[in-house]
Order: sequence, then structure tokens, then C-alpha cells
Amino acid sequence: LSGRDSVVDNRISVCVRKRPLDRREIAKKEIDVVTIPNKNHLIVHQPQVKVDLTKYLDNQKFRFDYTFDEDADNELVYKFTAQPLVNTMFEGGYATCFAYGQTGSGKTHTMCGAFQGKSQDCTAGIYALTAADVFRKLANPEIAKLKFIVKCSFFEIYGGKVFDLLGKRAALRVLEDGNKSVQVVGLSEVAVTNPDEVMELIRKGSLHRSAGTTSANANSSRSHAVFQLNLKRGPKEDLHGKISLIDLAGNERGADTTNSDRQTRQEGADINKSLLALKECIRSMSMNKNYVPFRLSKLTLVLRDSFIGENTKTCMIAMTSPGLNSVENTLNTLRYADRVKEL
Ligand code: ADP
Ligand code: MG
Repeated sequence: LSGRDSVVDNRISVCVRKRPLDRREIAKKEIDVVTIPNKNHLIVHQPQVKVDLTKYLDNQKFRFDYTFDEDADNELVYKFTAQPLVNTMFEGGYATCFAYGQTGSGKTHTMCGAFQGKSQDCTAGIYALTAADVFRKLANPEIAKLKFIVKCSFFEIYGGKVFDLLGKRAALRVLEDGNKSVQVVGLSEVAVTNPDEVMELIRKGSLHRSAGTTSANANSSRSHAVFQLNLKRGPKEDLHGKISLIDLAGNERGADTTNSDRQTRQEGADINKSLLALKECIRSMSMNKNYVPFRLSKLTLVLRDSFIGENTKTCMIAMTSPGLNSVENTLNTLRYADRVKEL
């Protein structure tokens, strides 16, 4: 049985989204080398040349839990990726959803949505769609009885340091306490009561990202943005469940190693380190290993509780740009996603 008729309830799911060619790429007659033949597969058609100079297409096929083509909108992607994780949070678990891929592949579009000036006229992304679902559930009388409160945090990890996007970009320390739980000391947690308040926080927080929100600004793609919704209860606001939605730093390599200054190279090395650590942590989860190497990077350290424990679930959405110019990065992205989980 294949297809996307039902949502598979995996502890770890790995999906791929292909964005459409953009106007600039179409104007440049960029070739689309990615096809999605069905809801589980993706093929990359890489032009190759033999030694005798004959040309051929090397078709590389990949299988994932779900694949989304350029016609899929954020709501469809949400339904099969983050939406099942909302249940995990209400069941008292810790859920995580990552957007992975090269700069320009659609991570921020998918997670944050597109803000076009005012916050009213924007395409909702996974952050907003998740928040809307959380409040919809809270309105259910059975759940309302439990008197949950929702608190948001939004921070960024840049150059191995944590910055509070809801707290004037303060640099925060990360501590492991005696109970082996990890704390981001002083992280802002803002109580929210409806999706509009969440959107407003996302909009404001995004303005504090290391260099703005636009994809034209290269720096914002060099940080991991972590948006969290915490479900709390009781007079002491004990944490019941949590969902972390993460717009990862761009995974592209190349430019970083040559012709760049020391800081840029260091940033590239930090990003590489954290993305490798992330892969190892999710792999450990998927193989049900007792040992999760979460101390390998700041990103995985702050997410410790989301890798360890009974009720933890993770979804990775690998984003791909369709153009021939991006084919090497696309293949790197797909190989990484493939390695995250043994199917
Ligand atoms: P990233 O965050 O991975 O660097 P962006 O989300 O900023 O990439 O996307 C790059 C550009 O492509 C943006 O202009 C964005 O609006 C556009 N884009 C990305 N994904 C889609 C999509 N699925 N449909 C339409 N436009 C998209
Ligand atoms: Mg981005």
C-alpha cells in the first residue's frame, strides 16, 4: 500500500518537499531535474557525460515517508509532517520538526510562511498552522477541563551561541543540571492565547534573526531558528508537552572552504558540526539506541529532551531546489535525509 491517503504514525518520519522553479530561474531557462512520480518517491535526473563524450541522464531514485511536489501547499505539507506531532504534545510527549536543505530551497517558506508586509496578508507556515491546531484542540471541552496554558519561545543558534529572539537577542547560556535536563538559562517564554498572538511573536522574533528574515540576506540562513510551543499545567506551570519547530541553517558547502574569511569558515564548520550531530541523534533514536550523542553540538544539546525518552517524535522535511544548478546540493540533501532513518 502506498500513497498519502493516511498519515503514518511513525516515531521518525522523513519527508521531502520540492519547491517550484522561481521566476528568476525560469527567466534563465534553468532545467528542472527533480521529479516526484508518486507520494513516496523522488527522482533526480543528473546529466552526465561518458568518457567517449556521449551524454546521458543518471536517474537516482529515493524513497521517503512522503514526498511533496511543487503543487503541494504549506497546508498539505503540514498535514503529513507536523500535524501528527501536535497529538504527541497533548499526550505529554516532546515532538520536533526540522526543515533541512540548502539556502533558497524553501525552509523558511515552509516553516515561517511568507510575510508580505502586514501580518494579515501572509501565507501561513508550519509555525502558524501548528499554533492554530493547538488552540483548536484547547477549545475542545474535554481538553479545556485540563486548563492548559501555552507558552512560546523562539531562539536562534548562531556560531554555536544561543540568542533569545523574544528577548532583545540576549545571548543565553545552556546548562545541564543534575537531573540531566538541559536548560537555556533566562530564555523568554511568552504566554499566548490565540494564533494571532503567536503570529505576532513570530513576526517580531524573525526581525531579530541574525540578519533579518529575507532570503536575500545570506546571514539569516547561517543560523538555526528554534520555535517552541510549550503546554503547561498547574500552579507551578509544570511542562506537560512540547513541540519544537526548527528552521535549520543552510546545509550548502563549498564557498565556505575557499575564498572566505575566517569567521565565515568558522560559521560553516559550526553548521556542519551541528547538522552531523543532528543526523547522529535522530539515527540513534530511529535505531532505539540507549545512547544519543546530544552533546556533539549546541543544537542537539538544547534539544536533548526531544531525542531521549519514551514519548518523543521527530519529523524531518528535506527541502530541494529543482534546478540543475543546485543538483549537487540537492543530492547531498537527499543523501543526508536518506541516512537519517533506515527504512
Ligand atoms: P530558505 O529558507 O531555505 O533559504 P526560502 O524559504 O527563503 O528558502 O525560499 C526561497 C525563495 O523561494 C523564497 O522567495 C520563497 O518564497 C520561495 N519559495 C520557497 N518554497 C516555495 C514554494 N513551495 N512555493 C513557492 N515559492 C517558494
Ligand atoms: Mg531561510
